[in-house]
Amino acid sequence: MIQYQNLEKESPNEPYTTQLLDVLKSHQVKATFFVVGKNALRFPAVLQRAVAEGHTIGSHTQSHSFRNYFFEPTLENEIAEGQYNISQVIGYEPKYFRAPWLWRTPLVLNTVRELGLKPIWGKFGSIIEVAQPSAQRVVRHALRRSRPGDILIFHDGYNGTTASRAVTVEAINLLIPKLRSIGYSFVTISEIEQELSTSHRSLRSLT
Ligand SMILES: [Zn+2]
Repeated sequence: MIQYQNLEKESPNEPYTTQLLDVLKSHQVKATFFVVGKNALRFPAVLQRAVAEGHTIGSHTQSHSFRNYFFEPTLENEIAEGQYNISQVIGYEPKYFRAPWLWRTPLVLNTVRELGLKPIWGKFGSIIEVAQPSAQRVVRHALRRSRPGDILIFHDGYNGTTASRAVTVEAINLLIPKLRSIGYSFVTISEIEQELSTSHRSLRSLT
């Protein structure tokens, strides 16, 4: 059985996204970055670097705006505008979408699907991470919460703004070798999809 763990981020936010890419590169880990459209326009180079280094890019709306979440026209705009701006930076439209605050309302689900995106959920790697306590606490917390097959969410941005994420960068650097030492490996959302479709095919060929 393959155990996987997938590290996810809210992006980009400099200098932390660059630092995170350095950390991921040093551990040879690929992640999925859920990107806020307005931040993509603000920090295009680091996003292009993430793509060049093999990370998967998903959408996390245009502005991470709470008030745009309740009505179809504003929500649809939020998502469509994010898609457009991210594609201007990376050259293609993301296939995956993560809802801010993991909101799973029928309106969110329907709008995301109507726009041809696949919603991806996940689990916060540590619920204390947003408050940026010590990296060691975040790591201890994440280790306790991790289960095989989890999609772990961490934040290199904060509600679409540019707060410090230094603790997150340090925590990820410590967490990757610890998770590896207990048998986890790391994949992107696209790799999970490939794996699922391959096992589907082989199951079908047995019948
Ligand atoms: Zn978010």
